[in-house]
Amino acid sequence: MANCTVDECDKPVKAKQMCSMHHQRWRRHGDPVVTKVRQSAEPTTCKWVNCDRFTVSKGLCSKHYYIYRLQNVQKMHINP
Ligand SMILES: [Zn+2]
Ligand SMILES: [Zn+2]
Repeated sequence: MANCTVDECDKPVKAKQMCSMHHQRWRRHGDPVVTKVRQSAEPTTCKWVNCDRFTVSKGLCSKHYYIYRLQNVQKMHINP
């Protein structure tokens, strides 16, 4: 019997040359190797030095994003 065609999967084929799990994923997402988009499930921390708060935007926490925006506004005023 053939095995699932997905890399690193050696389960027996159920349909379309894929095992039941990968075939189900393929039917649901159109791609057998896709796993759910989990950007929100894994919060990243602020890229500011010595800051480990969770990011809200642009890789920065709310406090540092606020500072970043203020700096951008100032830069825009200096160098239009
Ligand atoms: Zn598989
Ligand atoms: Zn921060």
